[in-house]
Amino acid sequence: MIVADPTDPVRTPSAVAETWRDAMRDAIRDPIELCRSLQLPPHFEQAAIRASRRFPLFVPRPYLQRIRPGDIHDPLLRQVLPLEDELADVPGFTQDPVGDMLAKQESGILQKYQARVLVIATGACGINCRYCFRRHFPYAEIPKLSRHAMKWVEEIRRDSSIEEVILSGGDPLTLVDSQLARLMDMLSTISHVQRIRFHTRMPIVIPSRVTDELCRWVTCHRPTSVMVVHSNHPNELDLHVESALKRLAGAGVLLLNQSVLMRGVNDDADTLANLSRRLLDCRVVPYYLHQLDRVAGAAHFEVPLERGIHLIQQLRVRMAGYGVPRFAREVAGQASKEVLA
Ligand SMILES: *Cc1c(COP(=O)(O)O)cnc(C)c1O
Ligand code: SF4
Repeated sequence: MIVADPTDPVRTPSAVAETWRDAMRDAIRDPIELCRSLQLPPHFEQAAIRASRRFPLFVPRPYLQRIRPGDIHDPLLRQVLPLEDELADVPGFTQDPVGDMLAKQESGILQKYQARVLVIATGACGINCRYCFRRHFPYAEIPKLSRHAMKWVEEIRRDSSIEEVILSGGDPLTLVDSQLARLMDMLSTISHVQRIRFHTRMPIVIPSRVTDELCRWVTCHRPTSVMVVHSNHPNELDLHVESALKRLAGAGVLLLNQSVLMRGVNDDADTLANLSRRLLDCRVVPYYLHQLDRVAGAAHFEVPLERGIHLIQQLRVRMAGYGVPRFAREVAGQASKEVLA
């Protein structure tokens, strides 16, 4: 298998694939460019430069377009702008809050729960989220998919207790269609693999990633294709994203969403209700609302647990049960995610 680095400047021959790969290549990486293009007050620039040394800035332009210029409280901006707050050393906030380093096997497979394995398919993402629990994850140590795919596919073949393979990362949809299609071919030859799940933010941040080719390979196999997208705020779900998600749903993909509860982004009942409504417009069922993992550099996003529980109770009164996500947190070493409300 040939691994195409999505940030590789070499253009692909396919005009369709070029669109999303262009967005990856042209994404904003320079904190000064981000601050100036959004007309932020000058003192944000120096803080952004310092904080981005610990975890680089990466904002694709289709996402930038959904941020209101000049508004430092914009809920999408807060997810991507490196702040001085990230440099604070807060007790309890660590490099590996959910025990990924312990669970990780050599080939890039993580198994924490029965019947499903999670594969770190790549370290690349379509956006760098400041709250990310994997912001310190040693992705450089993860072997390239091309080199180890055979190895972990054989590991899964030998273990008949595995019903579901979760492709995660990073973001698996930063890999090219041809590579993902071959992976699907291999996994679907394993009779005990019933579902293939993608954990991805690409349809939200770069909706042109949902190519016709993707819609074909994602549903042409026996296992059920499940896609868990990641959106935190209704402003993220513009008409381009809506159209991309509806195409996936139309192709036959089961669509779910996970969000992270964050201070100043989505910690109020109106925002969460509107997020659920927009997701349902897009044929996506809200799955999880996660309590923030306590990763170093993200303490300023934390919302008290009781507040999260209260917000979910408010949502339950306001809308259909299927519009209300499970409020959950991950506790290292536990047999499943802990559902709090
Ligand atoms: C979150 C997670 C899963 C998926 O858990 P579900 O409750 O099935 O969504 C699987 N494996 C790992 C390692 C995880 O972190
Ligand atoms: S897309 Fe997901 S894995 Fe990538 S930085 Fe954002 S939260 Fe982390």
